[in-house]
Amino acid sequence: MNETGTILLKNIRVDERLSDILISRGLISSIRPAGEIDVPAGASIETVDCGGKTAVPGFVNMHTHAGMALMRGIQEDVVFDRWLENIWKIESRIDADFVYWSTKVAALEMIRTGTTTFNDQYWFSPAARRATVEMGIRPVISYVVLDQGNPEEAARQREQCQQMYEESLSWNDQAIFEVAFHAVYSVSEAMILWATEFARKHNLLLHIHLSETTGEVENCQAAHGGLSPVEYLDSLGVLDERVIAAHTLWLSENDIRILGERKVNCVHNINSNLKIASGYHFHYNELRDAGANVCLGTDGCASSNNLDMLEAMKTSALLQKAWRWDPKAMPLDELLATATRNGAKALRINAGEIAEGKEADILVVDTDNTFFLSPGPFLGNFIYSAHSDCIDSVISGGRFVMRNRHVDGEKEILAEARKVLKQII
Ligand SMILES: [Zn+2]
Repeated sequence: MNETGTILLKNIRVDERLSDILISRGLISSIRPAGEIDVPAGASIETVDCGGKTAVPGFVNMHTHAGMALMRGIQEDVVFDRWLENIWKIESRIDADFVYWSTKVAALEMIRTGTTTFNDQYWFSPAARRATVEMGIRPVISYVVLDQGNPEEAARQREQCQQMYEESLSWNDQAIFEVAFHAVYSVSEAMILWATEFARKHNLLLHIHLSETTGEVENCQAAHGGLSPVEYLDSLGVLDERVIAAHTLWLSENDIRILGERKVNCVHNINSNLKIASGYHFHYNELRDAGANVCLGTDGCASSNNLDMLEAMKTSALLQKAWRWDPKAMPLDELLATATRNGAKALRINAGEIAEGKEADILVVDTDNTFFLSPGPFLGNFIYSAHSDCIDSVISGGRFVMRNRHVDGEKEILAEARKVLKQII
């Protein structure tokens, strides 16, 4: 991997126009029609001729558990409660080394499929941060609160979270620290309130699972005087624009109104929802119109099997069109936004668009194949026709993390990950 230097991408399509992109200090410093950026003689600029390939913003995967990349396929054909119970049993056997290599595998897969930023929620997060930063993409790393009503565990987690926050103040890389609490059914009310207050006090994002299954909603209503998980959290003052709520799948009209008014970032994880049969009537139009910021995620590999955002986009749109009986649902530009700039907005980072002044998170897409041989628009071919192996190169924060489908260290990652996989077999 080369250091953050100055790169000139020549002959690259931006919004269908053949352009040159100058990248400097990790940012897109200039976009001009092809041939209009002059390189001063002797300047230390790496020039890359992209030969007419197309620039797309790097994807922002807004909800995943990277440390589960080595758990794919481990729980096929089981119901959600069994799935979660078994996953928690398996997770009792893993350690920081497992999470480090699993996150390396996840980062490798994310790079290959075009993700340059991801919002993670998992254990042994210092190991996850190290693995991702080494790979050159941007992780949002959480401390996960999950006390299951145990006061001693809660005290230990409060201390650990404080400690990790203090450590994060000296992080000098791309990683961002956030607080997470797992869900309303696995975290005590006292710890929900504590995590919310902690996030607010330190201006951190708050990453949660919310209204993923009908069981979660019914149990919450039974335990909290008829309040849904959204109403319950709102009654506690948890919900605002710093909240990143994964799933938000089972919502009443009142829930949608609350999520919109509080400007919550709602993350749709369609492949995970379909796989565990949690449902698929995600209220995209309604949440968008109410004022929520709708983003896309893959969830972890134990439920969705891969981390491919292109696949997530395609499945999300197909399901919206199908259950609404409306082919106009989730149009291409909005679909791309849910996978790029909406996520960047939620994470408060200057990314998600190919525009001057933005982070240089760029996918270089090779259109010289059957999938793009069409009079149709690039985005339609990219999302509905092609696969992520058309992503030829990936630039993250101004550095190449994949060139011509090559990622440094891939063989070693696979070999080392194979060794730690033994822990869970
Ligand atoms: Zn999840």
